[in-house]
Amino acid sequence: MGDKGTETGVAAMAACYQRFDPAAYLQYNYTPPRADFERKDSIVPWKLECLHRAFNEGDVSGELLVDIGSGPTLYQVLSGCEVFNQVLLTDFLEVNRQELRHWLQDEGSCSLDWTPYLQHVCKLEGRRPSAWTEKAAKLRQAITDILPIDVHRPQPLASDILPSEGADCLVSCFCLESVSPDLPAFNRALGHIGKLLRPSGHLLLIGALGESYYFGGPGVKIPVVPLNEAQVCASLSENGYTLIRLEVYTLPQDMRVGVDDVSGVFFVKARKD
Ligand code: SAM
Repeated sequence: MGDKGTETGVAAMAACYQRFDPAAYLQYNYTPPRADFERKDSIVPWKLECLHRAFNEGDVSGELLVDIGSGPTLYQVLSGCEVFNQVLLTDFLEVNRQELRHWLQDEGSCSLDWTPYLQHVCKLEGRRPSAWTEKAAKLRQAITDILPIDVHRPQPLASDILPSEGADCLVSCFCLESVSPDLPAFNRALGHIGKLLRPSGHLLLIGALGESYYFGGPGVKIPVVPLNEAQVCASLSENGYTLIRLEVYTLPQDMRVGVDDVSGVFFVKARKD
């Protein structure tokens, strides 16, 4: 697809997202069987374990962690908020930012109860599950803001948001491939978010493998760029990252619940050159 085609594709993706339904999306992806904390092979515990390990190897540090395309979810910053004093959440859609604000303000009107997630990460950290209230307080204290972002813009965040050298670490889960019309747009988006990261800063990237669509709500079918591991690695290297680790999860049959056609999930830990 040429530049014009990609531009049209990006606009079409933005139009698709206007019907995104945070509560339905959470229900599809963040309840059992995909979030079954009794099962080692459930997708959410796998993601939490990858993030826990990546944040606790001693090489990831600094002051500011930015989550790119947070959506209505918090799981991706539950380990990071113990390492970084400041956590910035971002999303393209106001409905998702609103969902996150409900949790932040502890308004009791959240579409999902994050307690089992907080408890599970406490366990990973060797703390008693009842420490989850302290973790929730820590996260609420660490989140400095919830801001609009567009990864298709060369400058995805407003110009005065980040320190001039950039954030110390980026985390981004299921965002770039689910908002890009094709592989060149995915590559470019990875380049755009790289500008938000300081040299030698870390990128923790989680995403779908072999996925061509997912449902963002009832009847809201959102196209996805089907990626393989080689394409993810090539895109990282083209955009000036050194790969530290790539892990792959293959979806068990009973996790294929009809809300997408994902076949696996990748987890990447990389360092900006
Ligand atoms: N990070 C969450 C997770 O792990 O479940 C949400 C991922 S969801 C599949 C994709 C997210 O990308 C949505 O929250 C959507 O609003 C956001 N999004 C859509 N267009 C975007 C854009 N141009 N730039 C950044 N984020 C975008």
